[in-house]
Amino acid sequence: MEQKWNFKPSSTLLGASSLSVRGVLTRIMGHIATDTNNPKPVIPLGHGDPSAFPCFSTTPSAVDAVANALRSGKFNSYPPCVGVASARKAIAEYMSQDLPYTLLPDDIYLTNGCSQAIEIITSVLARPGANILLPKPGYLFYEARAVFNGVETRYFDLVPEKGWEVHLDGLAALSDENTVAMVIVNPGNPCGNVFSYEHLAKVAETAKKLGIFVIADEVYAHLTFGPNKFVPMGVFSSTVPVITLGSISKRWVVPGWRLGWIATHDSNDILKRTKVVDSIKNYLDISTDPATFMQGAIPDLIANTNEDFFLKTVETLKTTADICYNKLKEIKCVTCPSKPEGSMFVMISLDLSQLGDIKDDLDFCCKLAKEESVIILPGCAVGFKNWLRITHAIEPSSLQDGLDKLKSFCKRHAKQLN
Ligand SMILES: *Cc1c(COP(=O)(O)O)cnc(C)c1O
Repeated sequence: MEQKWNFKPSSTLLGASSLSVRGVLTRIMGHIATDTNNPKPVIPLGHGDPSAFPCFSTTPSAVDAVANALRSGKFNSYPPCVGVASARKAIAEYMSQDLPYTLLPDDIYLTNGCSQAIEIITSVLARPGANILLPKPGYLFYEARAVFNGVETRYFDLVPEKGWEVHLDGLAALSDENTVAMVIVNPGNPCGNVFSYEHLAKVAETAKKLGIFVIADEVYAHLTFGPNKFVPMGVFSSTVPVITLGSISKRWVVPGWRLGWIATHDSNDILKRTKVVDSIKNYLDISTDPATFMQGAIPDLIANTNEDFFLKTVETLKTTADICYNKLKEIKCVTCPSKPEGSMFVMISLDLSQLGDIKDDLDFCCKLAKEESVIILPGCAVGFKNWLRITHAIEPSSLQDGLDKLKSFCKRHAKQLN
């Protein structure tokens, strides 16, 4: 008789969209030519992790903070579920520097990077019928986690001609009584934009009108190099409840250290009254914590980082963004609607009508990988078909090289006009 097994994999997971940044990049990497005797170096303009490049290496004081925490022997136990007290306090003080009021240690919850913060917050708001408003183009991890939790996703536009501002009327039209929250990513991934104070104020007013809270993904906080300075969404928490997600991954360029946080900005105690805060705590009771010594390192890591390190990182990002923006202007089949002002990315539209044998953005990126060993993220991986996201945060000389190759690729595939 044939053996029967009772188990089956999760249908949600099997049905999950294959369109994650990681999934798409792996697929594109598969097209890199490997059989030549003279392989071209791979130029990674696809993902946002510059930690391997010398010009983006983290500050030695951060490494010392972690090493000292580990050596101290004080952080070998399990941490409290909400996070090590000294780290919560240090993050509350760090964030309060940019706020008109003071965050308390109890407003901070430590997570395994900003990714786990996203996982937690999308789980917390899951209830039958709930929907969440996400930006398009956007960071698809929100979609993946929301769908996994049975939360419906709806998409509001970021408008390229307006510096990727939120289309506020569209946002209002999307929502109903089951809409619980909206997400903004500022500084922006994938758009490289930075929202002005005035625009954020309007976002807050709109969210208040809709009766929803704002999830502010500020993982690129302070990585700005244009006219708009970084304004934390928490500034508007007297208008609307705000939950900020952050981490040390991007500003300190250490995404592998896996240390992030959730901060509740709840001037009017709305998140407390609606028990959102309780459900965050309950989720933390049943999830895994960041390594205790990483948490223990946070007070020194923050206190001992020299302002010069931050300035240098931002200066390098400004340089690479300028190189990228200027070079892209020379390439006919792409258009960059607005100059990057923050984070590590720029979005460009692809004019397929000028290209002879390219089907779409994914096809473009696969052929580019194959012919030039240059990796770029197709827009489909950020919910924006036939656009491209370029990461400029790499060594300037490689960036130049990669963009030159992009240019010659476009020339070679240009439609023959005769
Ligand atoms: C990188 C990134 C994250 C994840 O950050 P980690 O701290 O590395 O988990 C979250 N949101 C956005 C928009 C990002 O670009």
